[in-house]
Amino acid sequence: MTSLISSLCLLLLPILAIASISEHAESLPKFPSPTRPRVAIIGAGMAGLSTARRLNELNIGSVDIYEALDRIGGRINSVPYFDGYIQHGAQFINGDKNPLYEIANELGVVSDVLGDLEHVEGGRFFYGDCKVTNDDLDLFTDFTAPLDPKYRAIAHEDDVVSRRDAIYDVYQRDYAEFLQTHNISGHRRHVFDALSLTFRSYWEFEWASDWKDQSLRNLVDWDDKGAVGVSFTTNKIGYKAIIEKVAEGRGSARLHLNSPIGNIKWDDLRGVILTFENGTTVDTIYDYVIVTTSLGHLKKYHTSLFTPNVHRYRKRAIEKIGFGGSAKVFFRWANKFWNDEDHSIVTLAVKGCNGKDEVDAFDSEITTLQQLGWESNTMVAWIAGRGPRLFDEMEDEEISYRITDLMRRLTNNATLEAPELIVRQKLTKNKYLLGSYSYVSVAQTAIGAFLSGRREADRLAEDWSARKPASLAGVGGYRLE
Ligand SMILES: Cc1cc2nc3c(=O)[nH]c(=O)nc-3n(C[C@H](O)[C@H](O)[C@H](O)COP(=O)(O)OP(=O)(O)OC[C@H]3O[C@@H](n4cnc5c(N)ncnc54)[C@H](O)[C@@H]3O)c2cc1C
Repeated sequence: MTSLISSLCLLLLPILAIASISEHAESLPKFPSPTRPRVAIIGAGMAGLSTARRLNELNIGSVDIYEALDRIGGRINSVPYFDGYIQHGAQFINGDKNPLYEIANELGVVSDVLGDLEHVEGGRFFYGDCKVTNDDLDLFTDFTAPLDPKYRAIAHEDDVVSRRDAIYDVYQRDYAEFLQTHNISGHRRHVFDALSLTFRSYWEFEWASDWKDQSLRNLVDWDDKGAVGVSFTTNKIGYKAIIEKVAEGRGSARLHLNSPIGNIKWDDLRGVILTFENGTTVDTIYDYVIVTTSLGHLKKYHTSLFTPNVHRYRKRAIEKIGFGGSAKVFFRWANKFWNDEDHSIVTLAVKGCNGKDEVDAFDSEITTLQQLGWESNTMVAWIAGRGPRLFDEMEDEEISYRITDLMRRLTNNATLEAPELIVRQKLTKNKYLLGSYSYVSVAQTAIGAFLSGRREADRLAEDWSARKPASLAGVGGYRLE
């Protein structure tokens, strides 16, 4: 399935580009052009705000930004927490050779360089009264340490395998060989199965999707132009300052919050007509509309959002590309049961240990909790793959009960308190922020959103200078026309 997705993207995009030219040639608008193009941007996330900022730099257009939520940022969501901000969405910057790093650096919000594997490497293991030896922990570390570079090498050297296999497939082969070589069975096998979950989590956090969906091809296509396997962390203000800085650059563009758009109609004679979800038509008729809603939102609503429907090539692209998603759950305990120097805690839920015959979905999704550096009583659980849907179906009380039960078992402390605070956002339940993104390329990061906004603004400017108004649809990191 993964390799199919890769090939479809490669095949479809050139076709989409050709299709859009002929489509527009037939349907050039007949309405008179004003002296400044009227531009509507749908969505005030990084892509939408970056578009507005670039249009302002180019001094082009009379611009309205329509945002469904009561705030800017979209999947960049910084929420006040103690003396800083919790970042529900973007938090890291992938590489230093990009404009977002420059903005962050200027604002002084870049704090550190982080290795991808640090959350596991610097982690302290908790496994209750289960028999887990240091020798086995070391054995597992020795086994997994070379795998990331090995998979990168396969991906670069073997085109067929890189398109055919998912990370899960290659790991299963290596793991079977490892078990056989070291003659591992019975209880020890269960220990290594639990350790394998932490290795799986590493991939799922990093690439924001189920590792069964992660084509090895990702490792070839990904290029953030920085050192392999590291990104930059931001401080306790982080993306709050970054998104505000980008928003500031929009100049006179008007921002309409709480304004969900339900339909975008292309009318050959009049231009682009927008209708709010409540059925009210927007007064202004636009020359251009740039749609920056998430791919997940488009997957669900593209048929009702566009009149006429998007071209079938675009429809196929919307339906085929994108998978996965990720989310974070923040837990604050009044009393720490870890040490400040523990960068993270790794919870090893081993089958048959600590009174549990099976490792259920909750225990297998919570494998690592990372300390929030600037508020050390707070731990962040990153969940990806199937995790976000599982958690979004649970109430806070249930999560609190389950995490307390897990930690009591794994710390051998039956009186360990429940977390006093659980903070999260239910991304799979918010129709405007539906995930369905994964780190297949830098295009799907905040950097990609920023760059795609600029790209669409430049394309609009080029189009306008040729005096050929046409409707545009840029989606997150993807250019659909
Ligand atoms: C948990 C998580 C962690 C992440 N971590 C990182 C990271 O560390 N580094 C990184 O670079 N990236 C990270 N990302 C990815 C990054 O957040 C996104 O790539 C980026 O924010 C996408 O921006 P966007 O503008 O394309 O889309 P969005 O942020 O989704 O913006 C689209 C906007 O459109 C609005 N909208 C939707 N439908 C409508 C409608 N019908 N009418 C009007 N408005 C509408 C939405 O409300 C939203 O504000 C993370 C994402 C998640 C979920």
